[in-house]
Amino acid sequence: MIIKGINFPSLAPLVSLPERNSQNVCELLLSAACKDQDKEYVGFATLPNQVHRKSVKKGFDFTLMVAGESGLGKSTLVNSLFLTDLYKDRKLLNAEERITQTVEITKHTVDIEEKGVKLKLTIVDTPGFGDAVNNTECWKSVADYIDQQFEQYFRDESGLNRKNIQDNRVHCCLYFISPFGHGLRPLDVEFMKALHEKVNIVPVLAKADTLTPTEVKRKKIKIREEIEQYGIKIYQFPDCDSDEDEDFKQQDQELKDCIPFAVIGSNTVVEAKGKRVRGRLYPWGIVEVENPAHCDFVKLRNMLVRTHMQDLKDVTRETHYENYRAHCIQSMTRMVVKERNRNKLTRESGTDFPIPMVPGATDTETEKLIREKDEELKEAVLHKTEHNRDENPINVLR
Ligand code: GDP
Repeated sequence: MIIKGINFPSLAPLVSLPERNSQNVCELLLSAACKDQDKEYVGFATLPNQVHRKSVKKGFDFTLMVAGESGLGKSTLVNSLFLTDLYKDRKLLNAEERITQTVEITKHTVDIEEKGVKLKLTIVDTPGFGDAVNNTECWKSVADYIDQQFEQYFRDESGLNRKNIQDNRVHCCLYFISPFGHGLRPLDVEFMKALHEKVNIVPVLAKADTLTPTEVKRKKIKIREEIEQYGIKIYQFPDCDSDEDEDFKQQDQELKDCIPFAVIGSNTVVEAKGKRVRGRLYPWGIVEVENPAHCDFVKLRNMLVRTHMQDLKDVTRETHYENYRAHCIQSMTRMVVKERNRNKLTRESGTDFPIPMVPGATDTETEKLIREKDEELKEAVLHKTEHNRDENPINVLR
């Protein structure tokens, strides 16, 4: 008799004992089955639970960048997405101040907790982007910021102390497209093309309540066509596994067809049909932020938080950061080869030209770190030897 893959032939004599009543027989069968199961159960099936417990304990982090010209509702949307007030201390500039304004990068971090799961959320904003009279290359400081975060991570990762690396790499950039233009503006194209190989770009159609449903539909098609036409590589949602159920596949397709997400933001709660909802109150009615018939806010939030946060982080690590790292290593190798050739030439030509030091080679900070690491290693070896001696005195004496 086989129950759930466990073989019972060894129990046959037990079952045939006349003095056992049927209940006892069942109990015996069950306990024997459990014992048999224990024998066949190594325990690695609990690995996902172990990973789950460890990551919940450690907490999660996510860095989201918002970009697009000012006034498109970036801060309102971020506050609506994460139900926080991240822009309390924001100072808005007047028109005169904005004429010569350069793009500034600001960072806000909040720790949010939901059902015991902690998330350290960092929002990187780009005030001033597209606001000046001359916006030539105004995407440059955004690109530089992303590179700086990669550089910092690369340094930390290659450094001596890798235990507590702070990861500030940007995992996603919500790019706000104006609802008032006819598709993409040249600045939108320039920005996305300059950054698409550094960060996951998710385009959003801002202030969708200013458009009729037909206009939204038409604009989305136009923007998608232009993205394709200009060779812009926005974040690609991963393909569904073939064994996923039909509902899931349909939802996934709907999400892909949604690009760019038509969004509405609001920091106020209004009353609609007897319910308190986040929305915008107009003389002709209420537009509800979380109503899928009004906009794609819920789809965007679900994508960012519930379904694709980990994938956005994985693509950042495996594609964008890996590209940066490969470039770095390539140019470092080139530099070393150049340096070596120069050294060779100097030796051969017999000049006593001073060879420039490799930057950082005599850096006191690095020396300090090396000393600290040495101490740490010495202590670890000492501790290990003492431990061995306690456990196996004869071996040590020998
Ligand atoms: P930011 O400069 O891009 O951060 O824009 P803000 O979030 O400060 O919003 C600028 C103005 O647009 C404010 O008056 C907001 O109330 C308004 N606003 C924000 N989101 C929306 C929206 O979805 N629809 C409409 N119609 N107005 C919005």
